[in-house]
Amino acid sequence: MLQGSDTPSVRVGMIRGAEEIRFEVLGPHRIRSSDGFHLEAERASRYAVSRSETSVPGSQHWVRFAITLPGERPTRPAPPGAEVRELVVGRRIQLPHLRVDNRETWHLVGPFPDNASAEAFRRGQPRPGELTVLQLPSGQAEGWATLDGRRVQLPITVLPENPQEPQILLRDVLIGIEFHWQHREDELLRGALEIAAGPDGKLVAINELSAEAYLASVNSSEMTPDSPEELLKAQTVAGRSTLFATAGKHHFGEPFDLCADDHCQCYYGASRERERSWEAVRSTWGEVLVSDGRVCDARYSKICGGIMEDYRFVWDDRRIPYLTSGVDGPEPLPVPANSEEAARQFIRSSPDVYCNVDRYPLPESLRERCQGLFRWQVRYSRSELEELLATRVGVRVGRLLDLVPMERGDSGRIVHLQVVGTEGRVILGKELEIRRALSSSHLYSSCFYVEKELDGHGFPEFFRLIGAGWGHGVGLCQVGATVMASRGFSYRQILAHYYRGAEILRAY
Ligand SMILES: [Zn+2]
Ligand SMILES: [Zn+2]
Repeated sequence: MLQGSDTPSVRVGMIRGAEEIRFEVLGPHRIRSSDGFHLEAERASRYAVSRSETSVPGSQHWVRFAITLPGERPTRPAPPGAEVRELVVGRRIQLPHLRVDNRETWHLVGPFPDNASAEAFRRGQPRPGELTVLQLPSGQAEGWATLDGRRVQLPITVLPENPQEPQILLRDVLIGIEFHWQHREDELLRGALEIAAGPDGKLVAINELSAEAYLASVNSSEMTPDSPEELLKAQTVAGRSTLFATAGKHHFGEPFDLCADDHCQCYYGASRERERSWEAVRSTWGEVLVSDGRVCDARYSKICGGIMEDYRFVWDDRRIPYLTSGVDGPEPLPVPANSEEAARQFIRSSPDVYCNVDRYPLPESLRERCQGLFRWQVRYSRSELEELLATRVGVRVGRLLDLVPMERGDSGRIVHLQVVGTEGRVILGKELEIRRALSSSHLYSSCFYVEKELDGHGFPEFFRLIGAGWGHGVGLCQVGATVMASRGFSYRQILAHYYRGAEILRAY
């Protein structure tokens, strides 16, 4: 991330794991490679870069059991049985009015010879959702590629003469990876394009552009551009905060700051921008959320379901003061919904909350995407569910007998779920693993209860999952915030509602 200039720049990973990357530059441009190859083109041209020989750095599998601020001790002891190691990750970024330091310490056990043994170690712990398996590369990948038949050394940089304008068309970008809307798109990009070798030795396409141009796309890629102006402003400030709070951490060891998909923040290039996206950027220029002197990792998701979830029930066990639970509406609700009975009652109800799409009107394009997701049901046959558990998370327990929530968060989301079969029991967690296990893409949320339909012998034949919300539910609820904006709340009021106690500062 460039420092010292008025607007910092960001490196976004657009494509990963590719054998070939195709793109077009729409006007005059230059291309350079690491071995000194240099090309100047006066007019638009198309290119294909394919991988030839790349070196893959060694890597090791570790299990992370805690995250702390640098210098702090984890609150829980390391799981026994392996060597303990600390790794400081993140960046220090000097902005004109704010010194950002997003570094944190990962507490790891390991190393394990492969992913399977690390995963088996994690699964063997009483609360496996507290642990994460990480593959840590021991260096940078290097290598060579062919650019339209010419052998060049990676990385390759493509710089349009006028990078302020969208001049690069990157082909076949996969978006919505592993979610129900996954598809490929061609993305129109401002700034520069870099093609490098990723840690797996395959090609990575990176878009480097100004943070504010990036945000003008993020606010409308995450939400529809017909969203109310105050919502777009709130989304922009949250997106800017997330950018500075997470750069260098979610993709440790990869040659970019954030990826372009739902995993980090959705960035689908300049074709998503509208005049209103830019207006939201200009009127909040450089503004970030700050808490305890650190830029907020301003998490957000589509529909909380009525109660915002606490960070620690979804990710590692840390109390993040601005990401605690709360009711997403004007009226009090019986909270927390963290017992089986309270969760069932809550999911069956239709409370007066901002994200209740059955009560409050939404902009047309958002309504289509969110229809039927405030409250939802999914029904599987036993064999379908056994197949999903086996293929999605490698869980085989014989004939499936039950899915038992062991622990719920304040919003009703299941933190750990026990899968019970004739040949054993396995605990899944936290919410993302549960959602991945119970759908061929991702289940809408982990806020659900289970009803079984039994066959003539008393064995379950069908499982119905009856649920609420879409996404992890932590921080800003995008649909709730849209309704707040259309009811006249300002972006500052919206941010204060979802990120308790955080202040807004201008970083540049
Ligand atoms: Zn990511
Ligand atoms: Zn909500």
